[in-house]
Amino acid sequence: MREMPPSHPFDDDKLKEECGVFGVIGVADAANFVALGMHALQHRGQEAGGIVAHDPAFGFSSARRFGYVRDNFTKASLMETLPGALSIGHVRYSTAGSKGNTQIRDVQPFFGEFSMGGAAIAHNGNITNADALRKELIGRGSIFQSSSDSECIIHLMARSLQTNIPERMKDALRRVEGAFSVVAMTRTKLIGVRDPMGVRPLVLGRLGQGWVLSSETCGLDIIGAEFVREVAPGEMVVISEKEGVQSFHPFERAQPRFCIFEHVYFSRPDSILGGRSVYETRRQIGVELAKESPVEADLVCPVPDSGTPAAIGFSQQSGIPFAMGIVRNQYMGRTFIEPTEQIRNMGVRLKLNVNRALIKDKRVILVDDSVVRGTTSRKIKEMILDAGAAEVHFRIASPPTAWPCFYGVDTPQRDKLLAATMSEEEMRDHLAVDSLKFISLDGLYRAVGETKGRNAACPQYCDACFSGEYPVAPRDMIAKGFELKAAE
Ligand code: SF4
Repeated sequence: MREMPPSHPFDDDKLKEECGVFGVIGVADAANFVALGMHALQHRGQEAGGIVAHDPAFGFSSARRFGYVRDNFTKASLMETLPGALSIGHVRYSTAGSKGNTQIRDVQPFFGEFSMGGAAIAHNGNITNADALRKELIGRGSIFQSSSDSECIIHLMARSLQTNIPERMKDALRRVEGAFSVVAMTRTKLIGVRDPMGVRPLVLGRLGQGWVLSSETCGLDIIGAEFVREVAPGEMVVISEKEGVQSFHPFERAQPRFCIFEHVYFSRPDSILGGRSVYETRRQIGVELAKESPVEADLVCPVPDSGTPAAIGFSQQSGIPFAMGIVRNQYMGRTFIEPTEQIRNMGVRLKLNVNRALIKDKRVILVDDSVVRGTTSRKIKEMILDAGAAEVHFRIASPPTAWPCFYGVDTPQRDKLLAATMSEEEMRDHLAVDSLKFISLDGLYRAVGETKGRNAACPQYCDACFSGEYPVAPRDMIAKGFELKAAE
């Protein structure tokens, strides 16, 4: 039986990032560095991981495994099978079409053999016209092995008439719509590409004489690589040991629309996004929240762990003491690989516990990063009241999540999102708390450094899960009946 991490049995009320990518060229035993990078990116996907490496003497080699990086790609017997100075890796949550039903053949990177040599490719994001492309390609004779979007890119590359792999990749990616940060490799080149709007992150680093690509800067830090720069929206970097980094812009220029939720929740707080510390942005969200929605209370408590920086900011701005009123059991996820129904019913109590001595008779402000279905928020509120709190006030570090993400984040269907079916007041009643306030979209934009807030005519970020304004029309979903927000 396949052993893999639990599909978040106690943490199913959060949006989930679906993937992280990493690549290294010009460093001996590159796969070992890739494994470490994937470990640093594990928060972006825990379901499975894969590594491809290339060595001139042994050719391409690959390994794909279900489960955590640390449980698989730390074994010398496996890593010895991945020799060479060029390697890419991928951590995966799951893609839209195969949630909970992933086969090992769906685990990236994917490999294609072309007349000019092999290439492996992995991506973070979601191709919003993948169904349409797949149908077209199958109609023209392509045989798909997996349910992953990345395979579409391989088949499109196979059909290109260009004579080298980077050019074939450009041809293929010009047909693709949606959000994607791609890391790919040939026998001699490491390639990184961001979609024209740069929705998902990708950074370039230097490790000795070698080069590194990573979804986040925390992946560079773990291997001691120096941050060089972000791969720009719409940019393709082709890196070789001989020629260093070459930069191309294969797409029509577009207004950048980086995912604003990366700042709120997905990225690690020790990463740097767009030149800004993620931790500092989250702290600033708390400052903005305290300015927008003050309330008299005795304590500001984070919902751990992702609510912590915003709670610190709220406390600093309001002058209300910060306290760890809820403590997280860090080992929960690994203890119960397959929880029984009885244990499952204990739900959030297995993961979070209230610090009763601190909470009793206090008016408590709970700061959380988001409300998705609202199920966890309700349970946390009950725990706080059971511990004797006098009042419970929720302050949420993102605007109401009222729309699904189609750009590489696992979101419930729209009717399962609490904010899609209820007003803020109705949500407050539903959660039965003394008050509930979300940061405004303008407040969130101020916290990420846009001092004038959101430019309504030309938003600076993707914020579709809050605004319903999708920067790239989700073509496949529209074909399946998804209704876009009506024009105002
Ligand atoms: S819809 Fe939301 S989660 Fe998805 S890319 Fe846009 S901001 Fe990020």
